[in-house]
Formats: sequence, structure tokens, C-alpha cells
Amino acid sequence: MSHPTILAPPPSLASLCEEKEVALFLDFDGTLVDIAPRPDAIKVPAGMCGSLRSLSARLDGRLAIVSGRSLDDLGQHLDLSGMARAGSHGDMRVSADGSVIGDEPEPLTQFVMRDLTEFAQRHGLLLERKPHGAALHYRDNLQFERAVSRFAGLLAEQYGLATKAGKCVVELVPRGDGKAGAVATFMAAEPFIGARPIFIGDDVTDEDGFRAASEFGGFGIAVGERVSDNAQFHLADISAVHSWLELDF
Ligand SMILES: [Mg+2]
Repeated sequence: MSHPTILAPPPSLASLCEEKEVALFLDFDGTLVDIAPRPDAIKVPAGMCGSLRSLSARLDGRLAIVSGRSLDDLGQHLDLSGMARAGSHGDMRVSADGSVIGDEPEPLTQFVMRDLTEFAQRHGLLLERKPHGAALHYRDNLQFERAVSRFAGLLAEQYGLATKAGKCVVELVPRGDGKAGAVATFMAAEPFIGARPIFIGDDVTDEDGFRAASEFGGFGIAVGERVSDNAQFHLADISAVHSWLELDF
């Protein structure tokens, strides 16, 4: 097992672009913006959107945001029109021209929502409802960490769902191929095809993205202190990510 703190920082983006065409896959929370106590409380720096747009143009459109948030939620914080993007942990994919690629994931049933609501109320947890899933946040109730993950595991088994663990959050979602599937889907189409994919992310669900990037001849960059098994390089925090991406805002 490797530790991200002993992984080297990646070569500069400019030098990588000289070697071969680069495709960038970027997680959002904890990678481009700081994680907030509540998911709706994040602060997106002014100018980030325009800066990402310029970067996408510099890469001839080979840039996709790949987030655990739904695309509607993401759109409240960042105008992604004209850029490739995948939401709902990568299972909802939209190309730069706005067309949906593949099937939209299903919402959770009322039975799952009923069980989740009851559990959240009983433990005083924040239940975040999403179009294609629901998340139990325990940042303010760390003593329930094990109970949350056990309950989510049981529900997933009972209803044929998947769990996505993150920082102080566990989410129930329909079974899909997630961030790895998003990378594979974009890499199979123009303008991504044939480029070297680089996936940047900070959390457990990004490991799938790192693995997929490697399979397509690229690599993953782990952000922050979390131990990563699949990333090849490391950046310390979001400001290191902004610098590496040469975002100027
Ligand atoms: Mg993240």
C-alpha cells in the first residue's frame, strides 16, 4: 500500500501536454473546492468557472468534471454548460454539447427513503436527498460512524443498491459503474479518444477514477492526506490543485 504523502507531485501540466494530448477528469468537492460542514455551504471562488472554461478550451474540450453531486446540484455552484461533466458519482454523463450519454440512473424508491428518513431522525443525522441517491452525513455525530455504515450496508443488500463512502458521509445509490465508467465512456468518444487521462480526486470514490485512468494509459493524482492505493502522484490540497491546473483566479 502506498501513502499519498510519499507520492511525488506530478510533472507540470505544460510538460505533460507537450508529450501527448492530455484529458483531465476532475472531482469537485475536496479537489477544486473546500468541503463545507453542509454540502450546500461550499464556496466556489469567483473566476473558477471561467478559468476551468479556459483550461477546457486549451485542451480542446478534453476536460470533464466528475462529481458525487447530481448535475443539477453541481450546476447551482458552477456553470458547466459547454463542458463535459458527470454527476451522481459518475453515473450521469453529459457531453459538452449537453447531450446525455447512456441511461440516466434511477432514483431511490419510497421504501428506501422511508427507512433512511427514519434512521436519520432517530440519530439526528442530516439526510441529503439527491435525484439518484441519498446521503447520510455524520460530520456532527461521529459516534454514529459505524452504525451509519452498518445500516447503509444492510439497506444496500436488502434493496440491491450500492454504498459510496466519503468523508463523514455514506450514500446509497443505484448500482452503476461510477467514476470508472464515466472515464471509460468519455475516453471512448471525441474529443477524449486517444488522449492520456489524468484523474484528480481526494476521496474513496475517486479510486475507481484513478484505476480507469491507468487502464487508459494515464494516471491518478490523489489530493490531501487520505491513503490512496491507485494514484501515481499526489498534491497536498486544493490550492496545490489550482496551481497545478494553472487556474488563474
Ligand atoms: Mg471529493
